[in-house]
Amino acid sequence: MVEIRVWLVGAGPGDPELLTVKAMRLISQADIILHDALVTPEILALAGRNTVLIPVGKRAGAHSMPQPAINAALVAAARGRQRVVRLKGGDPTIFGRLAEEMDALRRANIAFEVVPGVTAACAAAATAQVSLSQRGHAQGVTFVTGHARVGATLALDWTALAQPGTTLAIYMGKGAAAELQQALAKHGMAPATPVVAVENAGRIDQAVHRLTLATLENLVALAGAGPLLILVGSALADNVQPCVPAATLVMAD
Ligand code: SAH
Repeated sequence: MVEIRVWLVGAGPGDPELLTVKAMRLISQADIILHDALVTPEILALAGRNTVLIPVGKRAGAHSMPQPAINAALVAAARGRQRVVRLKGGDPTIFGRLAEEMDALRRANIAFEVVPGVTAACAAAATAQVSLSQRGHAQGVTFVTGHARVGATLALDWTALAQPGTTLAIYMGKGAAAELQQALAKHGMAPATPVVAVENAGRIDQAVHRLTLATLENLVALAGAGPLLILVGSALADNVQPCVPAATLVMAD
């Protein structure tokens, strides 16, 4: 059996209690941790005293290590016969450049394991006490990025995104709030559609902003500097009720 020395691990939204037991064990046993900027100090504090912590993080706008350099650093660390944890905010499979890192490891013939984490959309929904899916309102959830390449507009399928029946979970959308609002409205989404934006979900300084599609652009003034997840859809209304026959609502004891 091939010995695994690299783990690509989801750190969840920031609260150490939202780590998986496996992530916690791997962090505490790692020799080297390469981590994103989104990974909180409270989580990094779980590493052993001799663990080497290497920040490779990206924050929108801020200078960061280019992805090829991160890939190279990961491969170099893994060649040292040490236990290497690549720690990513949320879940590694969602907007985490995971494919590039797995590709670099495969090319270098290094065995690895992916460990899931609580993604920001789920943490945001928990904080705001809303359900992402909701009978009769949202039969699906769409994870979408609101981040475009510098100088480019968002290349999203707006017609599909504006359809009722799904909840949108928009990552990296703070800077694009006005563009999101205009494009979704233009493609037919109702102005009263609820928007719930959660900043720093799953952290002590978490904040919930309740808006509608019509007021989404106000987010720019409301939001602080922390990571922000935007949820959009009729399932998020305060008084949402499942559209099911009353008889099926009887609770078991
Ligand atoms: N892999 C991560 C997402 C990385 S993209 C995950 O699964 O959560 C980075 C974006 O995720 C941020 O711009 C923000 O939109 C969202 N995000 C990450 N952590 C967050 C948090 N604690 N609260 C709110 N949004 C968060």
